[in-house]
Amino acid sequence: MAQPKYTTHLGMVDILPDEVRKWQYLENLIREEAEKFNLEEIRTPIMEQTELIVRGLGQLTDIVSKEIFSFSRGEDNYVLRPELTAPVVRSYVENHLDQRGGSQKLYYIGPMFRAERPQKGRQRQFHQFGMEVIGSSDPVADVEVIAFMIHIYKKVGITNTTLKLNSIGDPESREKYKEALKAHLKPNFDKLSEVSQKRFENNPLRILDSKEEEDQPFIESAPVITEYLGEDSLAHYNKVKEYLNDLEIPFEEDPYLVRGMDYYTQTAFELISPDLGAQDALAGGGRYDLLVEEIGGQPTPAVGFAAGMERLMIACEELGITLGTEKEVDVYVVTLGDEARKWGIKQLPVLRDKGLSATMDYMGRSMKAQMKDANRENARYTLIVGSNELQEGKFTLRNMRESEEVSLTLEEVIQKLTPG
Ligand code: AMP
Repeated sequence: MAQPKYTTHLGMVDILPDEVRKWQYLENLIREEAEKFNLEEIRTPIMEQTELIVRGLGQLTDIVSKEIFSFSRGEDNYVLRPELTAPVVRSYVENHLDQRGGSQKLYYIGPMFRAERPQKGRQRQFHQFGMEVIGSSDPVADVEVIAFMIHIYKKVGITNTTLKLNSIGDPESREKYKEALKAHLKPNFDKLSEVSQKRFENNPLRILDSKEEEDQPFIESAPVITEYLGEDSLAHYNKVKEYLNDLEIPFEEDPYLVRGMDYYTQTAFELISPDLGAQDALAGGGRYDLLVEEIGGQPTPAVGFAAGMERLMIACEELGITLGTEKEVDVYVVTLGDEARKWGIKQLPVLRDKGLSATMDYMGRSMKAQMKDANRENARYTLIVGSNELQEGKFTLRNMRESEEVSLTLEEVIQKLTPG
């Protein structure tokens, strides 16, 4: 095959028709289940102001320092959104969603952009679905968020997952822990990786997230944050665990789980799948009680998660889970001659009006080629029309699955195919 002249950008992929059917199936499932959880969908623009993302996620995070696609036009700085929590919070503040009353229980599905090194399960344009509850500090909200996340994977058929859970406390307990962590790392500062040395002053918690070999011994011996939690944080964390136990949602506590963004407080969690290989995180989230205020709103507690759609697809593939059904069409009208074609094109809308999917040959092919095409299109029935059929007003309806034929008027055909 000839080399194409134009290709997609690195790490960006086309989702082709056969794949789109799976996406639609998953998206529909997520929407239906979101309804059951009383969530409302929110859709925000693909581009945001650079300042929002820098401010929201934190200057020193990997995403902001290395991975955002940004550009300017005139005076304005744009970034392609790398995640949706900060944009949703921006929208909440900008549109005064608090005035709708109660807490806002939102979900989203859409593309995100990060300039990461592409590999299996890691793309530069990828898709997330997620949930955000803005306006509640109640552990019930944390647990509903986790429950929705896990519920989706269960519905799809993925049950072999591990929920990792931690609390990173409120700002005070975090400060105390940061000092303890720095005191622990300081004697070995020179042995830490370059990235971790950079994070040492401003963002020491992220050192716990390091994948660098040389950091591991110091991470393994580090103090754990849960021992520095204040009374309120501890009480909140205990409630979350209690409710998870009540719901029989198993979890593993991981005191070194800190997550990538600066805005997290208290609860932090990740859902891991052993079926994913190196990129084993299906989803992650946590509480972000400081973010609304950070980007200019009233102090407002919030909690949410984001899940990778591509990784969900990969997990399904690995587990042999079929998503949705094969493409098919109810009726393929096979026509012989001009008169029949003219009749055929007029009957397509009639069939469609009755709720049937219907198509015909667009390429002026022979009857044999049309029958072959009907098979390729996975037609349930063919309706065969020539001049004799037109004269008699009776057409051959062929059941393609059973290889059976009957001769019927168009009305009878419709009656047969639309029972009830
Ligand atoms: P994060 O927003 O980084 O917490 O990521 C949440 C989830 O999004 C991860 O657990 C992955 O499933 C997915 N994800 C994050 N980055 C990528 C990427 N570059 N490509 C594909 N999926 C991703």
